[in-house]
Parts: sequence; structure tokens; C-alpha cells
Amino acid sequence: MLIKEELEQLLELQHIDDQLRELEDSKVYLPDMIANIENDLASWKKSYEEAQAKLDELNRARKHLELEIEVDQSELKKSQEQMKAIKTNKEYDALTAQIAKMKERINEHEEKLLGVMEEIDQTNEEVKESKDKYEELSKSNKDVLENLNKEIDSIEDKIRMKEEERKSIKGRVNSRTVSHYERVRKGKGGVAVVTVKKKSCGGCFKQLAPKMIQEVKKGERLITCDSCGRILLWAGDESQ
Ligand SMILES: [Zn+2]
Repeated sequence: MLIKEELEQLLELQHIDDQLRELEDSKVYLPDMIANIENDLASWKKSYEEAQAKLDELNRARKHLELEIEVDQSELKKSQEQMKAIKTNKEYDALTAQIAKMKERINEHEEKLLGVMEEIDQTNEEVKESKDKYEELSKSNKDVLENLNKEIDSIEDKIRMKEEERKSIKGRVNSRTVSHYERVRKGKGGVAVVTVKKKSCGGCFKQLAPKMIQEVKKGERLITCDSCGRILLWAGDESQ
């Protein structure tokens, strides 16, 4: 195999290795993405449930107050009827005091009821807002979650396919070249084949001797950077 062809195979190998690394990474970040979405949904659901529980509580308080006011008002009416049959000053004073006290209680309860009604209005808004938000998010994330889960399920198959491709490329390239590639890739953060850029190595940016550049250009043998060991490739741009 010509060096030029071998380099093309190595580039393909590097591309597959990048994809394999991405697939391995996705085993971590895809479940993370799912967890984030699910946490967000759970927290909106919780807000909604808490607002609803508060609303139920307020409605109970409202009913209780309304009942008390009703009872007091009927008591007041009775007392006011009794007033007509009063015989003595003492009875009159006692009943007057009792009526005043009842009116005061009714006023207090009515004021409280007003506050509760206001809170009910606010809480109704909160319930509606959090419910809408939760339902909207559930709906919009349904497909997203489904796709993420599908993607997770397919990772292992994709890895197997890439491993197969990798094996067949390795079979076509000189084994010493492949081991050099693998060694450099491991040591240099995954990039083992680089192009010459502005008369320098595209990996470590060290200036290359003109003679070396000529050799890379010719492509008659495998040239590696003196400084970082990466395999050099001519990208064909004469302006560089
Ligand atoms: Zn270099």
C-alpha cells in the first residue's frame, strides 16, 4: 500500500477512534441529561402539589369561618329578638353587652375570611401556573426522553459496529504504522495524525525543516514530527 493510501486509512482510523470515544462518553452524559430533565419535571410537579395542598387547606379554613359566621349571626338574631321582651335594666345591660361581643366576633371572622379569600385567589394562580408549567414540560420532553433512552439502548451496538470497522482498517495498514499511531494517540490526547500548517506541525506547532516538509509533500515514506511524534500529513494547500 502506498504511503498516501496508508495515511488515508490512518485518518479514517482516527475518525473512528474519535467516534468510539464519543460513544464511551455518551454512556455518562446521556443518563446525566435524562436525570436533569427528570429532576426538573419532579421539582415542577412538587411545586404544583404543594400549591394544591395549600389551596385545599385554605378552602377548609374558608368553610370553617363561613360556618362560624353563620352560627354567630343566627345567635345574634335570637338575642336581638330577646331584646324586645326585656323587662329590667340589668337584663338590658347584659344582653346589650352580649350583642356587642357577638358583633365583634362576627367582624373579626369576616375580616379573617377576607384575608383567606385573597390568599385563595393568589394560590389559585400558583396552582394554575405550576400545573401549566409541569404539563407543558412533560409534553415537550416526552419525545426528548424517549429519544435519549433509545440512544442509550443503541450505544453498545454502535460501539460493536465501530470496533468492526476499526478491525478491518487495521488489517489493511502496516502493523508497525498502526502501533506507532496507537502509541502516539494514547500519549497525545487522541490526535496522532496531523496536517502541516504554516510550515509547522499541526499538533504541537513546532516549525518543520523545509526538507522535512518536502518529504511530507512527496509522501514516499511515513514522516513523524521530531518534537511530538505525530504522523505528518500534507493537506495539499500550496499557500501554507
Ligand atoms: Zn509535533
